Amino acid sequence: TVVTRFAPSPTGALHIGGARTALFNWLYARGNGGKFLLRIEDTDKARSTEENRQAILDGLTWLGLDWDGEPASQAANADRHAEVALQMLAEGTAYKCFSTQEEIEAFREEARANKSSTLFRSPWRDVPEADHPDGPFVIRVKAPREGSTTLHDEVQGDVTYQNDQLDDMVMLRSDGSPVYMLAVVVDDHDMGVTHVIRGDDHLANAFRQNLIYDAMGWEKPVLAHIPLIFGPDGKKLSKRHGATGAAEYQAMGYPAAGMRNYLTRLGWSHGDDEFFTDAQARDWFDLGGIGKSPARFDTKKLENLCGQHIAVAEDAALLHEVTDYLAATGAPALTSQQNDGLLTAMPSLKERSKTFPELLDKAHFVLTSRPVVPDEKSAKSLDGVHKGILAELTPQLQDASWTRDDLQGIVSALAEAHDTKLGKLAGPLRAALAGRAVSPSVFDMMLVLGREESIARIQDAAG
Ligand code: GLU
Repeated sequence: TVVTRFAPSPTGALHIGGARTALFNWLYARGNGGKFLLRIEDTDKARSTEENRQAILDGLTWLGLDWDGEPASQAANADRHAEVALQMLAEGTAYKCFSTQEEIEAFREEARANKSSTLFRSPWRDVPEADHPDGPFVIRVKAPREGSTTLHDEVQGDVTYQNDQLDDMVMLRSDGSPVYMLAVVVDDHDMGVTHVIRGDDHLANAFRQNLIYDAMGWEKPVLAHIPLIFGPDGKKLSKRHGATGAAEYQAMGYPAAGMRNYLTRLGWSHGDDEFFTDAQARDWFDLGGIGKSPARFDTKKLENLCGQHIAVAEDAALLHEVTDYLAATGAPALTSQQNDGLLTAMPSLKERSKTFPELLDKAHFVLTSRPVVPDEKSAKSLDGVHKGILAELTPQLQDASWTRDDLQGIVSALAEAHDTKLGKLAGPLRAALAGRAVSPSVFDMMLVLGREESIARIQDAAG
């Protein structure tokens, strides 16, 4: 069975790039009936914080990327990592190196002077145990120095490294602590990871990690190194391009489904399909569809997809997301009346809303209550003439059958009687019903508000 993992370092919150890596791993696991595991790479004690760890879990939860089992802590496995280094030492695929920092520096300086490789070549590589001194040592892997290594990558194809470009990397420091590169391999192996899908900034690491797989004779995972995400200008995505954290997109009110769809498309393609459901994404996702060149982050595309996902969302589920969003912004909880109003209005609110704030803006008419105070822009449409027309409208509405056709007929007839167009009455009616210039159509609002409330608001505005 397929086992993938997401292995974030809790040295920052969940970045868009990390979110996409997690998403690809999740899609691949879920699409293949496999497991998606989470491993927090918290070995850098100085920069790892509990707050970041929590922020990463929250970001994944928001995106709906559920993981299997408990998140693993890499730091907690240090003893196991050391055990593997010691096993390699015992088996002769690793060795003790007693070189001091000064000696290593001197080696490098000489190499620079001779214009030869500055990769450290330890003099201890082949020294027998009997000739070892007592002093502190590190454990280094015995890397091949001749020939080349080719690794197959599902995205990059066959990638070849000359072995003389690999050094005998340190696996265990002199204080007995394991280095990160060792920890990753041991954890991936112990967790049964079958597919390593991660950013291509880790491609060079794969060659160093490969040394450990070879030494231990462990089965190697399938590799898929995904190109990084670029900004619209073709440079690596960074703060300069705007928001880069998943939480920032959540705070801006992008729906998780739209975000998932967009991030799936960011660097992966399935023909010309842009919009897809979660089920389709799981069905279609494959490593072969991952592009070789970096994808560019495009806010317009993101918003377009978010708008489509809001439009097709189920009303009650959408209401749930919107209220979660509101709660996260610190807004007071909705009254049950507002809640009901939102749900009834949802079919008209979800048309052409790219974000929750946009949707809520349109929802103002159900969230507000009498007296409706028009904002500046909408107040302008309530001049004397139009107030007069609104005053004429209310008795007619008393007898309306309160269907869209009937309401439309009444307002059209009134417009005609005043030698004006239906559209000209929309402004004053919006001002009366919503107090806003942007809202669902006046008939949608009247249908949601009902006869009594609609007439009362129009009467209030007519003055
Ligand atoms: N902890 C690494 C990172 O956050 C990921 C390492 C890996 O996926 O192998 O970049």
